[in-house]
Amino acid sequence: MLADLGAAMIDRHIHEMRDIEAAKRRMKDGAYGVWADCGADIGLARLKAYPTARRCIECQGAHEKQFAQAGHPSL
Ligand SMILES: [Zn+2]
Repeated sequence: MLADLGAAMIDRHIHEMRDIEAAKRRMKDGAYGVWADCGADIGLARLKAYPTARRCIECQGAHEKQFAQAGHPSL
C-alpha cells in the first residue's frame, strides 16, 4: 500500500517533469501558446497560471471524462 502510494507520487512527478520538458520543446518549435487538442490560442492569464497546460478547459474536461470512462475513477 505504501509502496503503491510512493510509486504513484513518483509517477506524478515524472509526468510533471515531462510536461515541463514538452512545454520547453513547444517554445523552441514556436508551437507554445496554442492548445494541443484544438489549436486555439492560450490566454495569457492561463499561460501564467498553468505554464505547462496543454489543453483548454473544454478539451481538458472532455479528456478527463474519456479517461474516467476508461476505468480510472478519480477520487
Ligand atoms: Zn481546446
